[in-house]
Amino acid sequence: MTQSVLDKAFRDVVIANRILANEGVVDAYGHVSVRHPLDPTRYLLSRSRAPELVERGDVIEFDLEGKPIGGDTRPPYLERFIHGAIYEARPEVQAVVHAHAEAVLPFTVSTTPLRPVVHMASFIGARIPVWDIRDSFGDTNLLVVNMAQGRDLARGLGAERVVLMRGHGFAAAARSLPEAIRMSVYLPLNARVLTEAMRLGEVKALSRGEIEAHASMKPDDPAMWRAWEYWAVRAGCGDLLTARP
Ligand code: MN
Repeated sequence: MTQSVLDKAFRDVVIANRILANEGVVDAYGHVSVRHPLDPTRYLLSRSRAPELVERGDVIEFDLEGKPIGGDTRPPYLERFIHGAIYEARPEVQAVVHAHAEAVLPFTVSTTPLRPVVHMASFIGARIPVWDIRDSFGDTNLLVVNMAQGRDLARGLGAERVVLMRGHGFAAAARSLPEAIRMSVYLPLNARVLTEAMRLGEVKALSRGEIEAHASMKPDDPAMWRAWEYWAVRAGCGDLLTARP
């Protein structure tokens, strides 16, 4: 039983990687993790590899400080601190995505806020903060490469679900991997719709009540599974799916 829970988590990380690549959310860069299902002080994340190519054997257990468990010496992602710092700050968070999706980038450098405008994106939250690494760390290469920077980013995220990273990308925090993937796929879609709508003129965003109406969806809701299964099969890894929880 214990083994099968862990086995499912490893497989789900592979599925999540393949989906994000197949849906164009990540390219050679970007990553996705899940909190260890049996030990909340650890998370599962691939070694440094493009998400489309990630296989079961690439997934490594890390402690929240970003150290590999068991002395794995394969190169890890430089920005793994994003994951540990968010898990540390937010005990309820079970999955984290970091990506550079192009449609989102204009909102990381503009004073125009990214807001949910389409219902599929309502669960990205009413407020999407923008974190600027320069505020605390001055001129850097913009990468989050240590825990101090990760914790600063987690503070920028606060209690929200998505934080934009100035000139860089975004980090999304969710209650499950299917939810994290759903947010990460619809976040760029919402950004594209908003950008197009602003070209046309005035924009009507979702109201707070409309956003909250969706917030009640549980992370294991059948509607969440529906998208996870569909995207997994589309990404060619339907064979890795486990039965619906
Ligand atoms: Mn990055």
